[in-house]
Amino acid sequence: MTSPTLDQPRTAPAPPGRRSLLARDAGLLWHPYAPVDAGALYAVRDARGARLGLEDAAGARHEVVDGMASWWSAIHGYRNPVLDAAAREQLDSFSHVMFGGLTHEPAVGLAERLVAMAPAGLEHVFLADSGSISVEVALKLALQVQAARGETRRTRFLALRGGYHGDTFATMGVCDPVDGMHAEFSGLVPAQVFLPRPPAARLGADEAWEYDDGALAAWEAAARETAAAHAPELAAIVCEPVLQGAGGMHAYPPAVVRVLRELADEHGLLLVLDEIATGFGRTGRLFASEWTAGPDGRGAIVPDILCVGKALTGGYLTLAAMLCTTAVAADLGAGPNGGALLHGPTFMGNPLACAVATASLDLLTGSRQPWGEQVETLQSRLRTGLAPAAGLDCVRDVRVLGGVGVVQLDGPVDVPAVTREVVARGAWVRPFRDLVYVMPPYVTPAEDVARLCAAIVEGVDRVHG
Ligand code: PMP
Repeated sequence: MTSPTLDQPRTAPAPPGRRSLLARDAGLLWHPYAPVDAGALYAVRDARGARLGLEDAAGARHEVVDGMASWWSAIHGYRNPVLDAAAREQLDSFSHVMFGGLTHEPAVGLAERLVAMAPAGLEHVFLADSGSISVEVALKLALQVQAARGETRRTRFLALRGGYHGDTFATMGVCDPVDGMHAEFSGLVPAQVFLPRPPAARLGADEAWEYDDGALAAWEAAARETAAAHAPELAAIVCEPVLQGAGGMHAYPPAVVRVLRELADEHGLLLVLDEIATGFGRTGRLFASEWTAGPDGRGAIVPDILCVGKALTGGYLTLAAMLCTTAVAADLGAGPNGGALLHGPTFMGNPLACAVATASLDLLTGSRQPWGEQVETLQSRLRTGLAPAAGLDCVRDVRVLGGVGVVQLDGPVDVPAVTREVVARGAWVRPFRDLVYVMPPYVTPAEDVARLCAAIVEGVDRVHG
């Protein structure tokens, strides 16, 4: 027997120093939803404020305005001095310790901060290591609570068509069953019950929601019928309130969230709101569920379980959280396993991430740069900057909600071509399906928002016009 490793000639790869970063990446690393040899299009050389320094395959450098805030997360910009200092200070203390049997100031301080900020009544916190895991834990909690109540037949979830909640198995199950990954993992993704996608709504210039009343009434009737038909087997309702992100950047009437709260109460279900993308001000409210408040700002609906992530650490480190009400925690506590919530990852409550998250929340709510003003300003600049896109023949819709701007084409975006054209004009976007969308850092200066919007309008026109 000869060893294949001795017999087969092997070409030694060129030393890393002589190959470009992009060449070393291709075939080595997976990037999101891509084959291993797809490689990345650009290498990041540096990042500061709302800008990234990119290098392309030809070695050319591009300084671009980041329209993506690293997928909704870098709300305070890159190399933020306050967040940098918080990370350094915690490093000098300790960067990680296990959370089983131990606790520390960064975790306790962050949990106190989250409870104080979140809709009233959400008083218990589970610190998870990513958004998907926080939703996974929320679903698990819902099942455990129903079982603790003696409702052992309640093992399914009610979700919205067009939703997105993560890439783990349970979360894939509550993602849109057609556009999500159900077909690829058929038989393995738990089959859940879905309500139709709620009708579209847009926030008018006067801050009033505009939508088709008839379409909303029809959606509500269908939702009530489906919920009633499946109630005995349902544990919880799961949704992204008011804005469905990865499932199509689709805003819908806040009244829908109120209907879901009513259905949950009527049928003994828990209401799980996934604010991983919408939380911390992105839609123009601190939490998107607050859009359900009356004109006096009171009476917003409160979920039984809330998930947050992404912007929680200002995009510095991976961290998410699940919060629940005292009633939910009490029901869990009365269940088997001594009331334990059956989850506990190695990096739970990572001190470094918690310290940066606390600093990020301080920045968000501090007086120096109040989030409300930042997002309102961003909203009006995005409205102005993206408005010309509405005049392009290839554009079906232009919409803005808070710090989210969307240009929807009349067909699929040529992603590599649009990306190239936008980068050449000094901005970074990551289109998908028929959407070129942005959610820039809240701190993006006026001239950078203008450059970002102009790059999109011109780039889309150049490729699809
Ligand atoms: N829920 C929503 C609404 C999201 O937008 C995302 C991420 N795009 C997730 C859950 C999953 O979060 P993560 O990628 O951190 O696992």
